[in-house]
This record gives sequence, C-alpha cells and structure tokens, in this order.
Amino acid sequence: MTHRITLIPGDGTGPEIVEATRRAIEATGVAIEWDVHDIGLPALQKLGDPFPKSALDSVRRNKVGLKGPLTTELGTGMRSVNVALRKEFDLYANLRPAKTYEGVQAPMGKIDLVVVRENIEDLYAGIEFDIGTPELAEVRAVIEKASKQKIRTDAAIAIKYISEFGSRRIVKFAFEYARTNKRRKVTAVHKSNIMKFADGLFLRVAREVATEYPDIEFDDRIVDNMCMQLVQKPDLYDVLVLPNLYGDIVSDLVAGLAGGLGVAPGANIGENGVAVFEAIHGSAPKYAGQNKVNPMALMLAGVLMLRHIGERDAGDKLERAIASVVKEGKEVTYDLKRDRDDPTAVGTKEFADAVIRRMKR
Ligand code: NAD
Repeated sequence: MTHRITLIPGDGTGPEIVEATRRAIEATGVAIEWDVHDIGLPALQKLGDPFPKSALDSVRRNKVGLKGPLTTELGTGMRSVNVALRKEFDLYANLRPAKTYEGVQAPMGKIDLVVVRENIEDLYAGIEFDIGTPELAEVRAVIEKASKQKIRTDAAIAIKYISEFGSRRIVKFAFEYARTNKRRKVTAVHKSNIMKFADGLFLRVAREVATEYPDIEFDDRIVDNMCMQLVQKPDLYDVLVLPNLYGDIVSDLVAGLAGGLGVAPGANIGENGVAVFEAIHGSAPKYAGQNKVNPMALMLAGVLMLRHIGERDAGDKLERAIASVVKEGKEVTYDLKRDRDDPTAVGTKEFADAVIRRMKR
C-alpha cells in the first residue's frame, strides 16, 4: 500500500532536515507518495498567502503531515503557523515522547517518558484582557460580583478554562496511546489542591476514564511534586497526561532530561485522525543552507509517523538505525559530539547517509 503524506519543508534549516528525514523514511522500504506544500513564510513569499488553501486541503485529504520548522517572523502581523494549524484541524493532542539514546548526553541518566499535553484549552486558549480596555473593566466587574473577591484595577486578566469534553478526549487519547504502544501506566498531572474546580474537573474525568482501561495502571500527581519526581525518580513514570499550561512546561523539562530539544520529536493529533509530525526545535535560521544541523529530532518524528500510519516495523527499524549511529558517535552532527567544535562532526546529509546505511545492513 502506498501512503500519501503531506510534506511541509518549512524554512531556515527546515528543508535540509526534511530532505534528510524523507530519505531515511523511504529507506525503510515503506511506499510513500509525498504531497509537498509550503506554508508560513515560504508560502507567503511564493504565493502571497501563508496558509494556502491547497496546503490545508492536502493535510485534510491525506490526514498525515510531516513538517519542518517554520520561522515565526515577529512584527509582520502573521499569525503563528503552528497555532493556525492547531486551530484549523483541532489538533488537541500534543504528543512528546522523550527517551534517552546512548551517545546523547542526558543530565540525569536514562529516561523513557511520554508527555501527552492538551493543546486547545486552559490558560493558553487566548482569552485575555489587557489593562486599560473597556472589556477588562466589564470582565472584572462580573468576576468581582460572582466571586465576591476584589481584583486590583492595575491587573490584566487571563482566563483558564478546562472542560469535561476536552479533558475526556485528551485522557482517552493518553490511555489509547498507552495501550497501542504497550506502555504500563498513565499519570494525570494537575493542581487540584488549589484549583479545585478547573483542575479538580480534569482529575475527576481522568479517574473516570481510567476505569475504562483496567489493563493500564493509573495514578495522579500535583504538578510541582511531579517536576521534582521527574528529576529524582523518572523511572516511576511512563505516560503523563496534562492540561495545556503544565503540559507545555513539563514537556520541555522532560525533553531536557532526555538530552535537549535537538533530539526531541513531537506530534499534534486531532479529531478525524489528522496528525502533523515535527521536531520540537525551531528553524535555527543562523545555520540555514550550511548542511550542519541534526536531523535526528525530525527523523524520530518520522518514527512516530510510521507507527501512526500502521508501519510499526518500519518505525522500529528507523529508530534502531538512528540509535545505532548515535551510539557509535562517529557520523553525528556537531551537537552530538562532546566537543561542539570537533572537526569529525558530519553534516545533516551525512548523518542521514549513515542512518540509511544501517538500515541496509
Ligand atoms: P531554534 O530551536 O530554531 O534554535 C535555537 C538553537 O538551537 C540554534 O541556534 C542551534 O544552536 C540549536 N538547534 C536547534 N535545532 C537544532 C538542530 N536540529 N541541530 C543542532 N542544533 C540545533 O530556536 P529559535 O532560534 O528560538 O527559533 C528560531 C525560529 O523557529 C523562530 O522564528 C521560532 O518562532 C521558530 N520555531 C518554530 C517551531 C516550529 O515550527 N515547530 C518551533 C520552535 C521555534
């Protein structure tokens, strides 16, 4: 079977790591027809529109996308491409596995964790009121009346909302992911001791959903305690499911524990099965066109993508090849060398060549 996948090269170093990843994925032997589309700045430059309908239609049709990083130009008034994609396809689940590979320096030793972050609700929903606006005065008056509490007049207000619907679908996603990927446990992370209603709702729903998955262990942790435990005893945890804000922070903590953003893959998954796979790092524009940066994070996103489309063996094969190259530590990019100025570091393309050779052995 040939899979059709939307390929978004991105900008900065994006096109180089996307090309390296495309070649590595093809070397697994899986038949893929790539539907290449620009979005963001390259699309704005070529087509005069950062979100061309043809690109969005392609993602909608193929349901699976592999995306290079995109530069968010400050001050152009252009919406963040990532936020726009998330809204367009209701990409409610942000999946960020964080695993140490031998050869990648990890500050606290071995970890193997998966962070599932709710992507739509919570403090990041974008419901904010700036000081000095009539809307703020209106909202403050309503809140003061309803809560019987005073809010200082020089305070801006951001709204945190957490729904039953949003909580249920993200926790279900975490359990389904755990089941499909043979993970043993899901931990719900919250602050319900302080935010009894919003986080309390998230925890209650998580407990309810957990009863539908008796084969998977469930527990919960308060977010501050979770952060400490992740540093001290990460092996007690497996899959973490969190509302948006905690998920954002904890997923970077966990990526750092695994060796940094340069080796961390991610996926945004939505209703109707639309899924966009990417590296967590940005477009590293200062290295653009230099064949220098590490394509490993995007290749690992490719591993997630292969598993997502049912090509589990190919995904495992690609992951083993990447792990083997990194473990050997010879044909790796500068960031994976002990000394970043090591002259034996290879380029983006040569790293991909090494991974491809491993798969042919
Ligand atoms: P960045 O992640 O692009 O780069 C920061 C530094 O990290 C680089 O200068 C480089 O030293 C290192 N680095 C990053 N990726 C690397 C790799 N693959 N291999 C080796 N080293 C690597 O972060 P930034 O400079 O803050 O962001 C640049 C642009 O990317 C911004 O416009 C930002 O908005 C955007 N961005 C996009 C995404 C995305 O598309 N998903 C994510 C984050 C940032």
